[in-house]
Amino acid sequence: MNRSVKHIPSILIVDDQPMNIQLLSRLLSEDYEILAATCGSKALEIAQSQTPPDLVLLDINMPDVDGYEVCKKLKSEDRTRDIPVIFITARHDAQDEERGFLLGGSDYIVKPFQPMVVSARIRNQINLKVRTDLLREIARTDGLTGIPNRRSYDEHLDTVWKRCARDMQEVSMLMIDIDHFKAFNDRYGHGAGDVCLRRVAQALSSVLHRSLEMLCRYGGEEFAAVLPSVGRDKALPLAEAMLKAVYDLGIPHDSSPAAPVVTVSIGCASLLATPEGSPLDLARRADEALYAAKKEGRNRVAPA
Ligand code: GH3
Ligand code: MG
Ligand code: MG
Repeated sequence: MNRSVKHIPSILIVDDQPMNIQLLSRLLSEDYEILAATCGSKALEIAQSQTPPDLVLLDINMPDVDGYEVCKKLKSEDRTRDIPVIFITARHDAQDEERGFLLGGSDYIVKPFQPMVVSARIRNQINLKVRTDLLREIARTDGLTGIPNRRSYDEHLDTVWKRCARDMQEVSMLMIDIDHFKAFNDRYGHGAGDVCLRRVAQALSSVLHRSLEMLCRYGGEEFAAVLPSVGRDKALPLAEAMLKAVYDLGIPHDSSPAAPVVTVSIGCASLLATPEGSPLDLARRADEALYAAKKEGRNRVAPA
């Protein structure tokens, strides 16, 4: 997600009466992007799509799948769990309302409603959602380099491993470590070291293009990349391209015995994913290969 791009929050209005959708849509379309569904199954389809809404306004009485059922399904799946649901219904019993909240609803509005109050209650939920999304994004990102952090990488690696195990495919991993970086800090200062880390992260990222490939800051001056459905034949050229991308930055490093500029060493490992196997095994192999690359003189790629 690019946080600098302004994103207009979207609201999915679900009601079997098109008149009700029109009414709410008129009230909200100035501030939000409006999506609409006249039945529960269509609502679920939209919520589970690649572009899910930021909030669902949900009628309860609907012929096919009712609002309670829609809410229950949304809250039972990881992909849709965090989308706030506001029930908006003619059912005004306390029991109905309690049931809505117990199913994970964030608010419950009884028809007929006061438009200004509905707007305000929606605004509150949207503000909360936007803030939660931002916090989640920050928790997954390395503050210095802006690339995914270790936590986010570990989660992603687990997902990738399971998927490749199911499809009986290989997974490759690259362990990347800046050469003589302590000496770089000593020679140019810690501030210059930070700038160098950012530029190296960018250079490494520029080599990856496929959607499930991920580069993270693994720790200190170490990075890791996971390459799903990629074997050694394709992983090694990618590692070489990363090596070159960093070298070509041309960041002077007087005190490096490896080269006149900042360089990295890369360990490359590939493994057929299996349900019994573990991505930890892959990481260990990539780490051993990195150690070999360091020992053989740095500024190079070593296969496991
Ligand atoms: P090698 O070639 O064997 O990898 O040597 P090295 O000096 O790169 O390795 P070492 O592990 O001895 O030192 C890592 C250095 O990375 C020490 C540490 O100060 C620096 N470092 C780690 N994180 C940061 C950071 O966020 N900013 C800066 N400026 N330096 C960092
Ligand atoms: Mg190092
Ligand atoms: Mg290190």
